Amino acid sequence: MATTAATLAVRNPRTGSADHTITLATAEEVAAKAAVLRENQRGWEAMGVGGRCAVMARWLGAVKAQAMAIGEADAVDTGGCHTSYVQGFITMGNIGGWLEDAPKAFAALEWQSMSTSMPTVEVESQVVAYPLVGVISPWNAPLMLALLDAVPALFAGSAVLLKPSEVTPRVIEALFETVRQVPELAAVFDYVTGAGDIGQAVIGQADTICFTGSVPTGRKVAVACAERLIPCNLELGGKDPCIVTESADLDRAATAVLRGAVYATGQVCYSVERVYVHASVHDEFVALLVDKAEKVRLNADNPRAGLIGPFTFAPQADIVMRHIADAKAKGATVLTGGEVEELGGGLYLRPTVLTGVNHEMEIMQDETFGPCIPVMAYGDVEEAIRLANDTHFGLTASVIAGTAEEAKAIGKRINAGGIFLNDTFLTFAKMRTFGSDSFGWSGYGSPRIGPESIRRFLRRKSLLTQTGPVADIQDDHHLGPKTGAPK
Ligand code: NDP
Repeated sequence: MATTAATLAVRNPRTGSADHTITLATAEEVAAKAAVLRENQRGWEAMGVGGRCAVMARWLGAVKAQAMAIGEADAVDTGGCHTSYVQGFITMGNIGGWLEDAPKAFAALEWQSMSTSMPTVEVESQVVAYPLVGVISPWNAPLMLALLDAVPALFAGSAVLLKPSEVTPRVIEALFETVRQVPELAAVFDYVTGAGDIGQAVIGQADTICFTGSVPTGRKVAVACAERLIPCNLELGGKDPCIVTESADLDRAATAVLRGAVYATGQVCYSVERVYVHASVHDEFVALLVDKAEKVRLNADNPRAGLIGPFTFAPQADIVMRHIADAKAKGATVLTGGEVEELGGGLYLRPTVLTGVNHEMEIMQDETFGPCIPVMAYGDVEEAIRLANDTHFGLTASVIAGTAEEAKAIGKRINAGGIFLNDTFLTFAKMRTFGSDSFGWSGYGSPRIGPESIRRFLRRKSLLTQTGPVADIQDDHHLGPKTGAPK
């Protein structure tokens, strides 16, 4: 008997109405797609990195031709701010970067020499890809966060099965129009649509997992991967602090903090989520911040004009309002913003500055993921560092001081993977340059950016050739000269 596929209506964050429908996959369909990808991966890996680069260069051309349409789809999915419209171009940068970096990464992994511990043995490396990589991605920056993992995995020689968030499916559909134009790529790169059960089904099929999302879901993913004994790389939330010292240029600090906290409606994992300002400059800093915050326009009339878009995922507005209400109930003051407005069906929050906050409040402990800036005064640098490190998270942090040296000295003592000095929001600066680890609940596994991030998809084998005589059983030189084996 034929069964009807289940569908899901998808909300448009700008209008509030469901204007898109997706067909939900079943676990059987996930298994069938995984089997096809796994079969095709053998030929993909056999092409070598040079062959794959030639295919990926053709994909880059297809993305270039569709870059505007991809950006439009991202803007509809997320509610739109100017970051959305450039997503096609960011994708081109991602693919183009790996066209240069992947061959170098493979060359760096090649190894052939005589062993230093057993001089008659030749050691040679062989690099093999995990056959099937599962990528599970969130609703914020839905294209970029899917492709940060999928693109290097494909260059590595893996096949990729992507499970995007059901909240933001349109941009993935636009992306796959470009994938289908390159048949060799379409054979090894596919996606499945659905919610958490389909994420779990992907984990059930893959050889390694890359997950970006919240801490609670990340835990479930880690447990499911542990049960299958497959590796997982988790990129989770943040509660990123910014310290402003007494010697800082306060106008510069207020500009940087505002951008870092409210860009993309604060729905960025490395948004500034809490600010610590020296008590002697607290009031002056807050006045500058409020003044700048009140000049930021919503983009409700025109997504291309104005900087604050609607919440992408309506329930996120409830979480943000819960944090604000909890802070107010415990004594905080909202100086500007603080109320969600419904405009044309979308849910908006203007930049919201709070003072009188402390670490008993949710807004200083849990990820808010909205355009909120709680500001707290500190007495000395030791207290500022203690407060910055008083968190389960450790994704990024910022320090704004009078000199780079002063900022660096403080930054070196903060437990986070990316430390931005005399600015905020500098993550893109390390994209192709240097990968860093996340601390605490913010991440698990190996770095996802930087040239070595491709290693997450590669296993290295050693081929060991004996070129000398074979040891007799009573000789111990087969254990190597430095083993200290008793005579
Ligand atoms: P979620 O954790 O809710 O979801 C992430 C993905 O996991 C979605 O595709 C979701 O599907 C899927 N999923 C849900 N349940 C399960 C499950 N049991 N097993 C497997 N997969 C599952 O995160 P959000 O989408 O709400 O994204 C926002 C979060 O992402 C924030 O906490 C943010 O900080 C974090 N993030 C981290 C970044 C980083 O690099 N550290 C970058 C950007 C965001 P569906 O949505 O369809 O239910």
